Amino acid sequence: MTAVQKVAIAGAGVAGLATAIFLAKAGVEVDLYDAQPALSTHGSGITLQGNALRVFDELGVWDEIAAAGRAFEGLNLRAPGPGAPVVAALPDLKTGGPDYPSTMGMSRPDLARILLAEAERSGARVHFGTRVTGVSQTDDAVAVEVDGRPAGTFDVLVGADGLHSAVREMIGIHVSPEQTGMGIWRTFVSLPPEVDRSELYYGGPMYIAGYTPTGDDTMYAFLVEAAQDRSSASPEEARRIMVEQSRAYDGPWNHIRADIEAGADANYTWFTRHLVDAPWNRSRAVVIGDAAHSCPPTIAQGAAQGLEDAAVLSELLVNRDAVDQTLWDEFHERRVARAKAIVDASVQLGQWQLDGVRDADMGGLMFGVAQLTAARA
Ligand SMILES: Cc1cc2nc3c(=O)[nH]c(=O)nc-3n(C[C@H](O)[C@H](O)[C@H](O)COP(=O)(O)OP(=O)(O)OC[C@H]3O[C@@H](n4cnc5c(N)ncnc54)[C@H](O)[C@@H]3O)c2cc1C
Repeated sequence: MTAVQKVAIAGAGVAGLATAIFLAKAGVEVDLYDAQPALSTHGSGITLQGNALRVFDELGVWDEIAAAGRAFEGLNLRAPGPGAPVVAALPDLKTGGPDYPSTMGMSRPDLARILLAEAERSGARVHFGTRVTGVSQTDDAVAVEVDGRPAGTFDVLVGADGLHSAVREMIGIHVSPEQTGMGIWRTFVSLPPEVDRSELYYGGPMYIAGYTPTGDDTMYAFLVEAAQDRSSASPEEARRIMVEQSRAYDGPWNHIRADIEAGADANYTWFTRHLVDAPWNRSRAVVIGDAAHSCPPTIAQGAAQGLEDAAVLSELLVNRDAVDQTLWDEFHERRVARAKAIVDASVQLGQWQLDGVRDADMGGLMFGVAQLTAARA
């Protein structure tokens, strides 16, 4: 007998959808509520490392992910200026083990589409256009309110409702994401023939310029700058800024600029950090994914950590007989220190750049994180 028969999930991002798939496949009745009217068909790309790919395999979607994304090994560092010379070719650790590539880039809408289809195939009921607005608990149940009306009584509520989680606030965890001081421009463009892996440019006017292939003919590109209020920039203004900011970067950036000038969208986001200290639950409601932790994407581990939260939580809810303190203790033991190490390292990498530290051991820090994530959560 599983510890739960009926679970509600708030949020159909990677963390919520992964939890829905794991639980529904184990025979748990799952209702997943998402405030958006439908799955977003817009969005940039995402970099997924081996530890995330391993979870996709456990979810049963690895073949689809592998077909939709672009696998590659290693990372090139290039210099700004004429010719954008490659100054280092760095190997990657296969953090998912030998069965998976070290890294995969893919389009975010493709990832969301694959996870949603698998959740529905597994029997989860996914309700778009429905916002979780209330939570009340007794010792053995959690009553969930959606759009101001009772939606039912569940054994557990999983708050996978992102950075500004309403569930987190409703259960009395008052933690807000803080800005780290950096902002990022992103665009989704066609793949120049000479690009076959992630490439980063340090130096020049941006903290980081880079791109990652997401398929046979697509990639996403980004520029990281000191955070600014870009909220009033129109789509045309955003494109113009991204083109101007990237002028110091040659090579594949000429191709990226041409695509932006031809109409590829440019969007802007600030980097944030937060970590909910243990416990992540209040009685039978628990937060996971960005609701529990966020970090700058300097090591590309945010979604991977949300997937690991989903895997560990689901394993415990399915394999234990009761939702009790020992279940929550094991969940926190396996998740909180690991998520904290990722948040701290991701923030540190950005802070060294903000502080202009030139002799920081960035490689050593990244290698340490790769070793950590190579071990199973
Ligand atoms: C610029 C940038 C680049 C990044 N790059 C990477 C990367 O390369 N690799 C990586 O692993 N990670 C990356 N990340 C991190 C990654 O995007 C996030 O960690 C991940 O998408 C979070 O997933 P989630 O499911 O926790 O939340 P989300 O994807 O935010 O999903 C939350 C969902 O909850 C819904 N919701 C909100 N409130 C309610 C409510 N009250 N009721 C119901 N539904 C609600 C929302 O509509 C949303 O669909 C990046 C982040 C940023 C900002």
